Amino acid sequence: MNEIPIFDHRTLGQRVMFGSGQAANHLRSATYDLSASTPMVVAARGDRSLADAVLGDLDVAVRFDDVRPHVPVAQAEQARSIAREHGADLLISIGGGSTTGLAKAVALTTGLPIIAVPTTYAGSEATNVWGITEAARKTTGQDDRVLPHTVVYDAELTRSLPCELSVASACNALAHCVDSLWAPSANPINSALATEAIRALADALPEVADRPESLAGREHALYGAYLAAVAFASAGSGLHHKICHVLGGRFDLPHAQTHTIVLPHVLAFNAPYAQAAATRTAAALGATDAVDGLRALLKSVEAPTALRDVGLAEGDLDEAADLILPVVPASNPRPVTREELGELLRNAWMGTVSS
Ligand code: NAD
Repeated sequence: MNEIPIFDHRTLGQRVMFGSGQAANHLRSATYDLSASTPMVVAARGDRSLADAVLGDLDVAVRFDDVRPHVPVAQAEQARSIAREHGADLLISIGGGSTTGLAKAVALTTGLPIIAVPTTYAGSEATNVWGITEAARKTTGQDDRVLPHTVVYDAELTRSLPCELSVASACNALAHCVDSLWAPSANPINSALATEAIRALADALPEVADRPESLAGREHALYGAYLAAVAFASAGSGLHHKICHVLGGRFDLPHAQTHTIVLPHVLAFNAPYAQAAATRTAAALGATDAVDGLRALLKSVEAPTALRDVGLAEGDLDEAADLILPVVPASNPRPVTREELGELLRNAWMGTVSS
């Protein structure tokens, strides 16, 4: 029997309402329970029809639709002043991580509660982490004011997410789990959540890839994405997230695809030094070896494999390594040298297998 270590775990308080086809009902009832009368809706212009279907005839004070990736500070400021002008008493976000992120930026300075209705598997709705980008630099922080009060999950809403993005988004969730297993505040509670999330996502991914219309696959993906995000929020950012944070923020790479591409390289790097994490990951994937199991899963769903295909220039690799090295968590199970980091990034850039 393994020894249970001394640990200090904090569970974030949040209401989760789950049900396919129930988003409109659940949103109405959650809005009523918060006694809100002047909600501000945050939903991207491109997701308007999705948002309309969820909102139905709910009374809304104002809508904000200028949602952009990585929450630029200009949009955050604009959304905050619109919330003030209209006397908003609730934020309703309907969309992916970028939309949730913008609602969080408003909550950070106004203290308004959020009801989040996620339409991807990014998981931002289950964390108290915010991020704002200014002058190509993404600043992140943790603040309980940004944790959505209520999350309304409805797998029907993720059906319109294109297959490629669905796969990458679910792999982004998988990355939350794997990285949680060795992150700075990893503990038996968040590891248990992460392991169950890996299992659910490994079940969901082939179904989502092969039958994008299947509700069952998308329900399991949402369930896994939630657990993954709870584990990540509690365990903190490990090596994988530090790498992807720099790549996304500095080089403006697409979030979900970047996580998908980098994950097998970080797992291959850390696994020999993180036996318990590797054993758990392998078991949850139903594989004998974690690295082989993850690679086989990603291959089977035709996940993206190379950073050069998602916009990173070869000439950026050195700068990326220089920026990542100082933020490598001291608790990473394997010490990281500049040379090893450079090699890992080059392999991820080329799409070649890291040993
Ligand atoms: P996204 O929100 O940028 O969405 C990607 C695209 O998909 C957008 O064009 C969006 O309009 C579209 N889309 C969303 N749902 C759709 C649907 N159901 N049907 C059709 N199109 C749909 O991408 P994302 O991967 O969800 O989120 C990425 C962002 O979330 C990043 O900025 C990342 O940093 C942040 N994030 C934050 C946390 C956190 O804890 N703070 C966690 C995960 C991700």
